[in-house]
Amino acid sequence: MSANDMDGLKALIDELQIADPESGSRNWTEVRQFNLMFSTQMSNIAGEEGKLYLRPETAQGIFVNFLNVQKTTRQKVPFGIAQIGKAFRNEIVARQFIFRMREFEQMEMQFFVRPGAEMEWYEYWKARRMAWHRAVSPAAKLRFKDHDNLAHYANAAVDIQFEFPFGFKELEGVHSRTDFDLGSHQALSGKKLQYFDPELNESYVPYVVETSVGVDRMFLSILSNALIEETVPDAQGEDSARTVLRIPPALAPVKCAVLPIVRNKEELVEKARGVFDRLKRHFPCQYDEKDAIGRRYRRQDAVGTPYCITIDFETLEDNSVTLRERDSMKQERIPVDRVADIVREKTDMLRLLDQLI
Ligand code: ATP
Repeated sequence: MSANDMDGLKALIDELQIADPESGSRNWTEVRQFNLMFSTQMSNIAGEEGKLYLRPETAQGIFVNFLNVQKTTRQKVPFGIAQIGKAFRNEIVARQFIFRMREFEQMEMQFFVRPGAEMEWYEYWKARRMAWHRAVSPAAKLRFKDHDNLAHYANAAVDIQFEFPFGFKELEGVHSRTDFDLGSHQALSGKKLQYFDPELNESYVPYVVETSVGVDRMFLSILSNALIEETVPDAQGEDSARTVLRIPPALAPVKCAVLPIVRNKEELVEKARGVFDRLKRHFPCQYDEKDAIGRRYRRQDAVGTPYCITIDFETLEDNSVTLRERDSMKQERIPVDRVADIVREKTDMLRLLDQLI
């Protein structure tokens, strides 16, 4: 039976009386081929359309440009090219919110190495990528899962899995793709994709270690872990429920909120507006004067704002403000002209990246 013999496959299923392991049913449809890639037509002349496919991964653009990038940026192997962009897959079942979509955003890196050095780099990138995920999510929610069946182009592959509310699922893939992609582009295009290694004084098609992560899936992992409901003491020491988005400060969409303690004192509101106008040039900030201060803190907690600045009557006297931290709810008094530096330092992406060094 050939690979595309659908009728033969159906006959075999009937002959062997294969049943659905769950329902026991043998009521099968005809065997059909799934189209996993999206196709479209290209041509501005009617009747002359040629079929083309939307990319199911961003990687191939990197492979075809490999020599351009290497030469124009004067890179030596080992080096990597990273890219972010849309990918499209005709998923059979697209579900679980944004976990599996037909159009999604990928961040991929192809790291080019000497043939034979791929396992060393594969281990390196496994560790580096896990370190990144641990910097933004708890270690207990992350694990490695080796592939049981390797794709035809790979000689090693692992998933970094995250424990989503619906179980441990793939978040990122790290694959050792050998010279399969560059080798295939070279064979089919007839154009050489070889690198001349000045240290070895020889040319070769580099081997590739790939890291591939879905932006949407990573967003879902961080969000599903961060949104928490907890009971905390309120201003009177009574138990009170709060919803808090414990998102890492570097990823929080709003870094800081400026809140005048009351809104019916013109002087106070003017001062708070002035502080807000200065801070909003530094990072995304919100100004809020509606409702009691406790409710405004809760509103900011729920959208994950790491810091709140409160302007009160003392501010008018000594130019100090209260800085309140989202997770611990600790408050401290700081001079108003230090607010921008302190909040920037605590919410800076570099601070997160420094953990990876
Ligand atoms: P899965 O086993 O979940 O179908 P995959 O093994 O097909 O994923 P890869 O081809 O390794 O995934 O793609 C790399 C990454 O791209 C995945 O780890 C995931 O984060 C993301 N990704 C893949 N398919 C989708 C999709 N349909 N929707 C959203 N993200 C996706």
